Parts: sequence; structure tokens; C-alpha cells
Amino acid sequence: MVIRTFQLVVTIRSCAANACTAYKSRRCLTTSPIRYKIIVSDQIIIVGALQWNRKRCQNMVNPKEVKEKAENLEDENYSFRSFLKSTAQSKELDARFAELHNELFDSYDCCKCTNCCKTYGIILGNEELARISGFLGMTESMFFEKYLELADYDDDNQFRIRAYPCSFLLDDGCCKINECKPDVCKEYPFTNQPDRISHMINIISMSAVCPIVLEILERLKTMYGFQSR
Ligand code: SF4
Ligand code: SF4
Repeated sequence: MVIRTFQLVVTIRSCAANACTAYKSRRCLTTSPIRYKIIVSDQIIIVGALQWNRKRCQNMVNPKEVKEKAENLEDENYSFRSFLKSTAQSKELDARFAELHNELFDSYDCCKCTNCCKTYGIILGNEELARISGFLGMTESMFFEKYLELADYDDDNQFRIRAYPCSFLLDDGCCKINECKPDVCKEYPFTNQPDRISHMINIISMSAVCPIVLEILERLKTMYGFQSR
């Protein structure tokens, strides 16, 4: 009997960032190899393993250095904002943002970064409070006592996760409540949403936290032929 063994490694775009639960899910989709066995005949059996490799982003800034890099680029980024306001078509700019967002999140492992989970006070509404407390098997009042504070003392329908880094960030970069995490965590950094031209100040601010945002801005500068002075 002849047994042939092959190792087939395929690099794929594993997901579309918006639809994908890996992006921002803190779960890398790099999977264990899928073992297979093909019986060709009594004489020939092919066994092997199929490995899905997620493409890795090249040359992305280290998450620990993103703040410093963004601060160095701040003046240039504000000039770029003015440049876009005078030259860019809003819909075309949104399309370019969305394309870069999908491409970069598709190949980036947020578990290795987690800057957003360490930086922002996450705001929840009533519905999210009910959903997450149920997921954790806690009453709403227990959940509030343990993790939350009022986001605005004049509004008792808005809550903030009290701790920085977020209480639900696990040591491996995963999110403990990934299945029902707050909407803002699913949407951040909002670079695939419409009317980005009106939100450039927020985007520049987020570039000091999120390496993907910083990279998107740099790539947009090249796409639009922006020259810094
Ligand atoms: S709930 Fe906390 S750990 Fe989970 S994604 Fe949001 S900020 Fe990160
Ligand atoms: S800051 Fe950006 S790259 Fe880092 S974990 Fe958050 S969304 Fe992912």
C-alpha cells in the first residue's frame, strides 16, 4: 500500500470585518489544521492537513506606539482633514474608508492590541444592561453594583463600565462578554460608517488609540495624493 502525505497551506481572507465575529471578537480565526484522508484505492491513501492562515497586516504600527506616533502626526492629520474637506467627495471617501476598514480588520488580530478596551469608558443603555446581566447570570442591580456607574447623573438610563481596562477584558485579549458585548464595542472605530468627512476630528482622535485608524489615515493620504508640508 502507498500512503502519500501532503501539507496544504492556504491563505484566505477569512472574513468580512463587519459580518465577522473574529474581528473585534478577541478570537483569532487562525484555526487548527483540518486533517483529511482521501482513499483513492486499496493501494493509495492520501492523508494530510489543511491549514487556514489569516493574512497578517504588514507594517502596522505597534499598539504600544500608536499614541506617540499619532501625536507626531497630529498637525499633519488636521491639514489632511482640511484637504479632504476641500477636495474629497463624501461618498467616495466613505467607500475608501469602508474598503480599508474591511481589508485591515480582516487581517488584524485585535486580541494583540486591545487598546480600545483599555482606554474608553464604555457606555451602555438599559437594554444592554439587561442583556449582559442576563448573560452573566446576574440580576441587573448586582451587575450595576459590581461593574457600572451612571454615565450622567442627570440620566439614570445611561451607564458606564467603571473600570479601566474594561472589567471584561481577559488576559488573552478576549472579551468575556463577546457574545453580547455593547454595540459601541462592535462598531468601534466606526470607520465603515457614512459621512466620515464630518467626523474627521473624532477619527484623528481615535488614531491615537487604534492602529487600524492610524493606518487608514496614512493610506488615504497616499490615495488622495496628499503632500504634507
Ligand atoms: S466589553 Fe470591554 S472587553 Fe469587551 S469589547 Fe467592550 S471594552 Fe472590550
Ligand atoms: S484599538 Fe482598534 S485595533 Fe486595537 S483592539 Fe480596538 S479596534 Fe482592534
